[in-house]
Amino acid sequence: MKAGITVSISHELLRAILEGARRLYPKETVLLLRGERKKNLIVVSDLVVPPLATYGQGFAEIPLHMLPMDFSIVGTLHSHPSGNPAPSITDLNNSFGIILMIVGFPFVDDKNVAVYNRDGEKLKLTIIRTER
Ligand SMILES: [Zn+2]
Repeated sequence: MKAGITVSISHELLRAILEGARRLYPKETVLLLRGERKKNLIVVSDLVVPPLATYGQGFAEIPLHMLPMDFSIVGTLHSHPSGNPAPSITDLNNSFGIILMIVGFPFVDDKNVAVYNRDGEKLKLTIIRTER
């Protein structure tokens, strides 16, 4: 675990991600993460469907390098229907932005989520629970 960057996401947003991944299973879900970097904290605030993507395409099949430069995109998210949330070499080679978030089957809770930097080092993930 790399001391340094922490990634924070709201519980609601994470739940939406997990629900989406469950719905698409066994196909892969691929999303862009919109957010803000504040020094060593990256706050994920929104999800964006990547242009040129059709649902169920694999992460490596989306031409992420062709995306327009958008500094509000902090990274990508995709699912691993296999269940192992560790990034593959292909994932790291295709990463876009600062962070690479992976959700693994069965997509139930935060134990099925992991976030990495572009070197494949695991980053700390903080889930924010807001009172309603
Ligand atoms: Zn992957």
